[in-house]
Amino acid sequence: MLSVEEARARILAALSPVGTEWVSLAEAWGRVLAEDVTARHDKPPADVSSMDGYAVRAADCTLPPCRLRVVGSAPAGHPFAGRIGPGEAVRVFTGSVIPDGADSVVIQEDTDLGETAVEVRVTAASGRHIRRRGGDFAAGTVLLRAPRRLTVRDVGLAAAADRPWLRVHRRPRVAILSTGDEVARPGDPIPEGGIVSSNALALAALVRACGAEPIDLGIAPDDMDAIARLVRAPHGADLIVTSGGASVGAHDLIQASLQPEGLELAFWKIAMRPGKPFLFGHVRGTPLLGLPGNPVSALVCGLLFLAPALDRLSGLPGEPPAPEFARAGADLPANDLRADHLRARLERDGDGAWIATPFPAQDSSQMRIFAEAEALILRPPHAPPVRAGEPVPILRLGLRGY
Ligand code: AMP
Ligand code: MG
Repeated sequence: MLSVEEARARILAALSPVGTEWVSLAEAWGRVLAEDVTARHDKPPADVSSMDGYAVRAADCTLPPCRLRVVGSAPAGHPFAGRIGPGEAVRVFTGSVIPDGADSVVIQEDTDLGETAVEVRVTAASGRHIRRRGGDFAAGTVLLRAPRRLTVRDVGLAAAADRPWLRVHRRPRVAILSTGDEVARPGDPIPEGGIVSSNALALAALVRACGAEPIDLGIAPDDMDAIARLVRAPHGADLIVTSGGASVGAHDLIQASLQPEGLELAFWKIAMRPGKPFLFGHVRGTPLLGLPGNPVSALVCGLLFLAPALDRLSGLPGEPPAPEFARAGADLPANDLRADHLRARLERDGDGAWIATPFPAQDSSQMRIFAEAEALILRPPHAPPVRAGEPVPILRLGLRGY
């Protein structure tokens, strides 16, 4: 059995980023940048005032109080046309261009707010309350480096850089196939002894949360031809994801049915719980992740393997999810050879540190507990016992919407 880390490394090594497209900045949030973004202009474009007040010559206000002649008013967007001479001031506001000749701004609270003449009650220091041209960034500066998943702040920065179109990776397309005679779509009639399929919709949601586009291949019965036909159907996917049928039972048909389709199996079975029966390979050049059918197993594999794989296809390195640390909320026994992922509740102790307490039930079919869980406690293979209060690595759930 492969370790989680080795399996993930092999998946990532086998994937390469999809192509790129231009998107309007209005559609760019969450997309992965494929080309650096450089500033088109200086920001601010000129020296501007950071306060409401008066632009003055510092040399005129060395011994307060001093009286200056107000020779104009220059609200933001309406620069003063002339030049300030000795003994003169111009009314300015936040964002006003500093008039030629001025080298300081006196805030209005330090004046008598005069309209034709103003009394300044403080010493004016050269450069005070002035935002220098290019002080945020200069034209030509690389502001955002590819690859990078664009945040809300990045969108604001690209807009400020006057870049209304960005080159990004297109969204990877992910074909999702459920298998099993017993599973029915939510809302459809349920066969006798059947269950409602939750995996396809949950995986589609995970795919969307990772910025990719799900394609629903439907449900294949436990029949080799049906599985092969659905996987073979033209879907233009960059990645195929199946759920169920990945185990060793007589009805676990993913491998058997895809062998005649040219399945090149890279590996099967991971030393982890939940989610041992997981496979990875290629079918006619398209990578395929075969997830277990149990819903918690399917989604834990989704988190550990599918999400990084989607990042990689999207142009990012596909970093593994970064563990944080919490104090164990209960004693934990020694672990066996499979990396364990315990569904846990999180709370803060008096010092604000996380305490992670595993739910007593950890069955891989229990979706309610999984949805309630706020973290997975990571128990590496052969981890020694842990006493309540000792630190354990956790993966927090719900952060990217999953
Ligand atoms: P399998 O991996 O096919 O042996 O399935 C393991 C368990 O997961 C069985 O109890 C299945 O009924 C269940 N299962 C399989 N596919 C789904 C699905 N799409 N949604 C919910 N449960 C499923
Ligand atoms: Mg099955």
